[in-house]
Order: sequence, then C-alpha cells, then structure tokens
Amino acid sequence: MKKITIIGGGIAGLTAAYYLNKKIKEEGLDYHLQLVEAGNRLGGKIETERRDGFTIERGPDSFLIRKQSAERLAQDVGIGGKLVKNGTGKSYILVGDELHSMPQGSFMGIPTQVKPFLNSSLFSFTGKLRAGMDFVKPKGEPAEDQSLGKFFRRRLGDEVVENLIEPLLSGIYAGDMDDLSLMATFPNFYQLEQKYGSLIKGLQKTMPAPPKTSAKKRSMFYSINGGLQTLVDALEDALGDVVSKQTEVKEISKKEDGYQLTMQNGKELQSDAVLIATPYPVMKQMLTSYDFVSELVEMKATSVANVALAFDQSAIKEDIDGTGFVVSRNSNYRITACTWTHKKWPETAAPEGKALLRCYVGRPGDEDIVDLSDESLEELVLHDLNKIMKIDEKPLFTVVSRWKNAMPQYRIGHKQRVEQLESDLNDNLPGVFVAGSPYRGIGIPDCIDQGEAAVDKIMDFLAE
Ligand code: FAD
Repeated sequence: MKKITIIGGGIAGLTAAYYLNKKIKEEGLDYHLQLVEAGNRLGGKIETERRDGFTIERGPDSFLIRKQSAERLAQDVGIGGKLVKNGTGKSYILVGDELHSMPQGSFMGIPTQVKPFLNSSLFSFTGKLRAGMDFVKPKGEPAEDQSLGKFFRRRLGDEVVENLIEPLLSGIYAGDMDDLSLMATFPNFYQLEQKYGSLIKGLQKTMPAPPKTSAKKRSMFYSINGGLQTLVDALEDALGDVVSKQTEVKEISKKEDGYQLTMQNGKELQSDAVLIATPYPVMKQMLTSYDFVSELVEMKATSVANVALAFDQSAIKEDIDGTGFVVSRNSNYRITACTWTHKKWPETAAPEGKALLRCYVGRPGDEDIVDLSDESLEELVLHDLNKIMKIDEKPLFTVVSRWKNAMPQYRIGHKQRVEQLESDLNDNLPGVFVAGSPYRGIGIPDCIDQGEAAVDKIMDFLAE
C-alpha cells in the first residue's frame, strides 16, 4: 500500500486531501492518505467566530467569484446552496480626512472609463493628466519581472498609485508595492501593456462592458452562510479519519524507500509522497538538512491585525452609504481599511438592528501595532473611526485577530524562485511537493488551485 501524507490543514492542504480521498475511493486505489495538522483546528487562516448572532471572520471574509475553483469546491462538498454574494454598495478611499467614492469602472484602481475618472475628486488635475499619459507612453522593454509599484508609477503616475492603487493592493498583500513582483501578482497587467501599449486601452479592450448606470453593480465576491469556516467544517466532515490534528511535523528525511516524517512528539511516519502545505518558514525548517532548501532566500511575510466591532445600529450617528473604505498611506490614520461588514454581507454578518465594522491595521513601517493590547487596538481604531463617522457609544463587544508574519510577500523574481524550488525538489526529493499561499497565489481560489494541482502531481508520481 502506498502512503501519502499532507502536512498542513489550511485550505490548500484540505483541498488536496479532499480530492485525493475522493479519487482513492472512486478508483479503489490501494493508497493510504493522511492529513496532519499541527493545531487543534483546521482551516489555517480561515477562521470564523460566531457570537450573539454575528458572523465574524478573523481572517479572509470572501473569495473572488471570477476564479471558479472555490465555488466548485463548495459545490463538491455539498454547501453550494450556502454561497452568498456581497452587497454592492459604494466603496471609498480615505485621502487626508475625506472619503472619496471609488471612480466608477476602475479595475484594481486602473481607470477603464475616462469620464468618471476625470470627474473624480481623488486626483488633482495634474494627477489626471499624468495618468492620461498611459495612452501615449511607450511600453516598457520586455522583462522577466519588475517591481509592481514602479510599473504602475511609470504607466499612471505617483498620484493614482498613492491615492488609489496602493490602498487597494495593500488590502490584498499588506506589503510594500515597490518590492512586490509584477509577474507573481498581476502578470496580466504586464501582458496588457505589452500587447496594447497602454493599461487603460488594454483593460477597455478586454474587460466585459461596464453595466449601464441604472443597472445593478455586479457582485465580485462570495462568502458562505455561517462564514468561511463552513467550508472548512464541510471538508473536515468529508475527510473523517484522514485528518490527524495536533500532529506537528518537525522534520522530513529521505530514506531508501520513501520519506520519514518525524513529529514533535517524537513519533515517526513513513510516506511515499508528501505534500507540504504549511507556511514557508515551516517548510524550510522541515527540510533544513537539504542544502538547496537551507540556501533558499528568506520570504518576508508581513503582520496584520483586524478589530471587529459590534454595535447597535443606533450607535452609528452618521451612517455612510456604502460597504467600506481603504485608507491612502499619506493620510494621518493608523487603520488601513474598514469594512462595514453588515452592509457588505447584509444576509449573514449581523442580526437585525446591529452593525459590524471590521477595521484593519498593520502596514510596512507600522507592523508593531499588531503587538498592542486588545484595549489599545480598540481605542486606536475607535479614535480613527470617529474622525470619519461619529460613533458615540462603546461597542457591544470587539474581536481582535492578530496575524503575525502571515501575508507572504512575493518579491521581484518570486516566480523564478518557486520554479527553481519545485525543480530542485523534483531532482533531490522526488515525491515531495509544495502548495499554498507562499507559492502561486495567496487568494483562497489560488490556494485551492494549488491543492488540486498537487493531486495530479501526486497521482502521476505514485503511478510511475
Ligand atoms: P494556511 O491557512 O496558513 O494553513 C497552513 C496550515 O499548516 C495551518 O493550519 C498550520 O497550523 C499548519 N501547520 C503549520 N506548521 C505545521 C507543521 N509543522 N505540521 C503540521 N501542520 C502545520 N484570501 C482571499 O481569497 N480573500 C480574503 O478576503 C482574504 N483575506 C485575508 C485576510 C487575512 C487577515 C489573511 C491573513 C489572509 C487573507 N487571505 C484572503 C489570504 C488567504 O486567507 C490565505 O492565503 C489562505 O487561507 C492560506 O491558505 P494555506 O492553506 O496556504 O495556508
């Protein structure tokens, strides 16, 4: 009997385990599958707290509808009927002390419609003129990779980057745009520049036609009734005794016949194929005795925290029509974004008559904020919120979630480094694979894609 071990019960590891288990059962394969998870719960960064009728996401709150693997997985585990689409109110950017509406038709901050962009209060006349240079500026020289921030600055100018693109992107990567890799984050923008000579023109040519002004804005995200943990729970139910929690792997060593996994408690596990779906430093640590791994460059991961505040609706004196805002870095605020969660997820986030605000903190240069006490974080967040929206009662309760070194930073050259790692693994440790947010995309659907791809790799390897 061949043995397969998946290390890590985040969404990447769970997906791989689910589809492998299904295949083994359906095809009656003589394989033994085990998923080992260090913690006492599954889901990794996906974690929902349900309290007094509120659904509070500690980590991710949704996934992109456009990338279809997460919806498919939800359907496959039988919870497709619980998918909910986000409410589509206005969203804002806070610049200085003022909330500006997101210009209609912008995609990741890049304008695709000229008129709303020209009418936007977000940019000065000079900033708009500079962005318009995108139409005429020659395309950059073809390059293997380049800085994400510098690419956007070159095409659209500093003002559009600082007032719109950077605040939006930092919500995803919580990193310094200038250090991030274009090809590992948004390779399609590079391709648009190369093909159309202009990002704006490229998006206009390739994006679906914008809805008529009277038509309803399209939802872009799915969540799940009961929170994203519902997906994790359904996967856990489907996997049954495939899962072993509180089982931390310390070391992986190659033996004549497969691999030996040594656990924290000293126990050993033999395996023919291994999928590592843990954070990057844990992968390095488990394989530290192999030179090609110990020589790998560090991958920085930034720290963030969020504070969810539950209120009676009446506590919010100046309600704002919309689902939330992001904060430009040159504004004098420490929160980086705030989601009016009860409006973004009107069906699921908060009971009738209640409001749930979720504020984010932590950005490059302000990561220590994550270490403040719960009380200090609550105070600081309320102080910032009160500058914009007048809340004069204490929250009913708050939930603080800290994510230390949790957001992997794909720095310039990331894709090449991942390819090199996979190729070195194949040469030196055949049958050992990696998947998850440190490698080929940090979004939930990206991690699911990687889990699915790992299933094929493991099956091919064991069939050899
Ligand atoms: P993880 O979730 O990190 O799972 C790794 C698992 O490995 C953990 O369970 C860990 O306990 C386990 N492990 C570690 N060491 C060992 C060991 N030695 N032995 C065994 N097990 C071990 N994405 C979106 O698509 N939408 C969002 O809205 C969104 N928001 C986010 C908000 C926050 C605050 C954060 C932190 C992330 C967000 N993301 C979002 C990104 C997304 O949630 C993650 O990239 C994704 O969930 C990571 O999944 P993973 O399986 O790669 O890793």
